[in-house]
Amino acid sequence: MQAIIEDARLKPILEKVQAGERLSFEDGVTLYRSGDILSVGYMANLVRERLHGDRTYFNVNRHINPTDVCVASCRLCAFGKRVRDPKAYTMSLDEVWHRAGEGWSEAITEFHIVGGLHPELTLDWYCEMLRGLKQRFPQVHLKAFTMVEIAYLARRQKIGIRETLEKLRDAGMDSLPGGGAEIFSEPVRRIICDHKIDGNEWLETARIAHELGLRSNCTMLYGHIENEEDRVDHLVKLRELQDVTGGFVTFIPLAFHPDNTPLQHIPKTTGFADIRNIAVARLMLDNIPHIKAYWVMMTPRIAQIALRFGADDIDGTVVEEKIYHDAGATTSQSLRRSELLRLIRKAGREPIERDTLYRPVQRTEATFTVLV
Ligand code: SF4
Repeated sequence: MQAIIEDARLKPILEKVQAGERLSFEDGVTLYRSGDILSVGYMANLVRERLHGDRTYFNVNRHINPTDVCVASCRLCAFGKRVRDPKAYTMSLDEVWHRAGEGWSEAITEFHIVGGLHPELTLDWYCEMLRGLKQRFPQVHLKAFTMVEIAYLARRQKIGIRETLEKLRDAGMDSLPGGGAEIFSEPVRRIICDHKIDGNEWLETARIAHELGLRSNCTMLYGHIENEEDRVDHLVKLRELQDVTGGFVTFIPLAFHPDNTPLQHIPKTTGFADIRNIAVARLMLDNIPHIKAYWVMMTPRIAQIALRFGADDIDGTVVEEKIYHDAGATTSQSLRRSELLRLIRKAGREPIERDTLYRPVQRTEATFTVLV
């Protein structure tokens, strides 16, 4: 099929995409500024189908947020609470282990574990948590800790990032989810999350994790005060690191949810912006295999449409998501496996259940086998 490109500025970009050439920073800005979303989506879909055909991935996972206590006060955040806040919670180890196995009949292949920067929970506590999960659920992949949590634990323990990652890996951490990247632009970061590690530290932590053989995802928070250049700069920095390490598995654009944050005067992102961020990411990140439409943030409906605009993954069943729901996400806290299958099939795509590392999962009623 030949595309009708309405925006003439996109024609040279289409030629590059058809030839499999890398897009430049300026191309990225043009893609973000063009109103011709169908042409941008057409190009992203070309790349998506070149890489994955109709294959569309999902997993059966569970989110665990062990604590919302956080020493940082990022303005983008509605989740973190002060240690003395009566609404704050911190699970005991027994609660984490109990919660992990609670209330869900479908066999889970992944625990996604992230939380606040707790001033008292030690690296040993987290290692114990991982060991306990591995002991109780040996078949489940533990995708745990943002780069921000890793850097905080290292600082508290007064050891290096490498040693911290090694200890967590030895205790059972299998990979990292890639959160906390937000936007690397320092002026923006100073306003939305000045208590966090800076962009270079985030990238350095990811680099060390990849060197240790750990795979990770990567993310970008959009829809707050950043501009098009900030977004493209972020994508190019991820692409540059991926050229060196090859350790990123999936990129996940995260829509900013302003409710209950100090930035709640900012309007929520539009469907147009959500779709465009998926498409531009697919086009710019030519070396990252997967682009995820995270239904929790962009709603199952928009995530489904994104499967035709560059996304090849729709995330998982999730079960009990706290972070974005504290910030006003109105989506359900979980989707059943059958609903994910329906969303993907109705988009004309072929659903593939995967494990965290994209190996196909063969499933019977309540058990699964990862095909290696
Ligand atoms: S975004 Fe993360 S580090 Fe910042 S306040 Fe929230 S939980 Fe803490």
